[in-house]
Amino acid sequence: MAGVYVSIPFCAQKCTYCNFASGVFPAALEADYYRVLRGEIAAHPWEWIPETVYFGGGSPSRTEASILAGLLEAMPGRPWREATLEAAPGDLTSDKVRVWRDAGVNRVSFGVQSFVKRELAQTGRKHTAETVAADVTLLREEGIANISVDLIAGLPHQTLASFTESLDWVERLALPHVSVYMLEVDEDSRLGAELLAGGQRYGSAKVPGDDEIVAMYQLAVDRLGATGVPRYEISNFARPGYESLHNLKYWRLEPYVGFGADAHGFDGLKRRQNAETAAEYVSRANMRLPLWTAETQADREQERLLVGLRLAAGVEVAELTPALSRYVDEGLLQRDGRVLRLTDRGVLLSNEVFEEFVTA
Ligand code: SF4
Repeated sequence: MAGVYVSIPFCAQKCTYCNFASGVFPAALEADYYRVLRGEIAAHPWEWIPETVYFGGGSPSRTEASILAGLLEAMPGRPWREATLEAAPGDLTSDKVRVWRDAGVNRVSFGVQSFVKRELAQTGRKHTAETVAADVTLLREEGIANISVDLIAGLPHQTLASFTESLDWVERLALPHVSVYMLEVDEDSRLGAELLAGGQRYGSAKVPGDDEIVAMYQLAVDRLGATGVPRYEISNFARPGYESLHNLKYWRLEPYVGFGADAHGFDGLKRRQNAETAAEYVSRANMRLPLWTAETQADREQERLLVGLRLAAGVEVAELTPALSRYVDEGLLQRDGRVLRLTDRGVLLSNEVFEEFVTA
């Protein structure tokens, strides 16, 4: 069964570590964007009924709830098995949450990143741990119990002790799903670019070292695992039954359609990518050009292995290639009958392992 991804790239601020095509845009562009997005969804020839819907971005929680409800209205399949909305802590009100819920939203994923004041302030985020706690309570009161939070390991000023504080909050709030990402350092975020340039801005001199970041990740694996929220994918942890059904589709190579700027789609054979920025997306619509700008044929076997190995459950392989055998010998992969999976050490070196597949 297939999924739907909807991109809402608008945020209250641009966070220093963020490398997405999201941020603060003029109100007029936002209005045009929703118009084009509604048109893209309405024009879609639904060949299958979606089972999951995911609103990501960006901060879809900032969007007027009636606009979101209108977008959901245009999609078949309600009630979806899972309909997720990414939310910035502090954006929620009871009225908003009721509109979301009545429109079919049954899961909320918070971009928390940290529960520690100093770390949040440095990144430009406005919330506090108490904001997150209040939002979680509100959701539960309105009947949405499937809640996730994102954390980042590697933020400026973060230490193993302060990361522990964030994990304490996760435990205290009894959250059934957590994503833990290691800080990505690339040119696409202000912090990443500063780090690459060896500069001092955005607290870059206070970014913890690689070993400390790995220790934070390992601590998350141990702590969350011990409290009944085991890792089911490299960066994702869930109480059994609370795994993200939508994201599992990506890792199981199931089809999905993407709407909005920078959204990707996969029909089982081809991958398509929409115009990257909100402005380009709107201007292509105004010029009556296709909204997608790139289409590639998928290499199913290579991709099945690449994404399947991200899962703790592993992936079935009929035969080991020489490269895979080498990783088994080196203790990065383990084989269990026909199932191949990353070892704990392999998870930490997964980028290296995956690179080999891509360049092989
Ligand atoms: S981290 Fe989230 S809230 Fe911050 S700019 Fe990126 S998408 Fe927006």
